[in-house]
Amino acid sequence: MELARATWTAIEDQKVDVVLFPIGSTEQHGPHAPLGTDAYLAETVATRAAEQTDVTAVVAPGLPIGVSPEHRSFAGTIWVSASAFRTFVTEAVASLEAHGFDRVVLVNGHGGNMPAVREVAENLTRSHSMQCVSFTWFDAIDTGDVRMGHAGPVETSALLAARPDVVDCDRIAEAGEASVDRWGTWIGGTNVAVDTEEFAPNGVVGDPRLADANTGEQLLAAAAERLCEVIDYVASS
Ligand SMILES: [Zn+2]
Repeated sequence: MELARATWTAIEDQKVDVVLFPIGSTEQHGPHAPLGTDAYLAETVATRAAEQTDVTAVVAPGLPIGVSPEHRSFAGTIWVSASAFRTFVTEAVASLEAHGFDRVVLVNGHGGNMPAVREVAENLTRSHSMQCVSFTWFDAIDTGDVRMGHAGPVETSALLAARPDVVDCDRIAEAGEASVDRWGTWIGGTNVAVDTEEFAPNGVVGDPRLADANTGEQLLAAAAERLCEVIDYVASS
């Protein structure tokens, strides 16, 4: 069930076990993938898990903006500070509790949000009478030989499976040619880079030419399965 499409009376009548709160980012994903990639994929994983789980899970409207100042030099990127993000997500999720929705999973699609969503979930669980867990779809699965990167084979494959309409396939070759292998600039075992453009001129880490829809389907299925495990845990705890 999708919260935004439901009426308040339908929600009041429905026994809801878990609310899924998708969180993404609006940030560059190379010349071939859209700024909304992280939000699209978080929503896709949440929606699939909600359909598959045995409990009643409602997908809340997603938050498509996150903590992504590292992409600030690329046009169209929107970001907020970690403190503003934490405050917004905390208050939005805590408001669900007013209507008895006290089991929530934050379904995240952006690496830069990970410390903040984990902190928010932990603090909501500590300070409210709710159980909140953060889940980052690509962090929860084994991607095998396909490394995560950024706008690379993992995200591009997932998009080709979930939202092929938003991928500019004519620019995947160009994106791959200028891509780099590794996130960051590493000195002394430390990533000293502040912004993505320092090490990835077109914003792409990992080669999206290796992406395909079948791989994406497997990745999304695995992520939805892992999320169902988390939903079961949250529903029964
Ligand atoms: Zn991404």
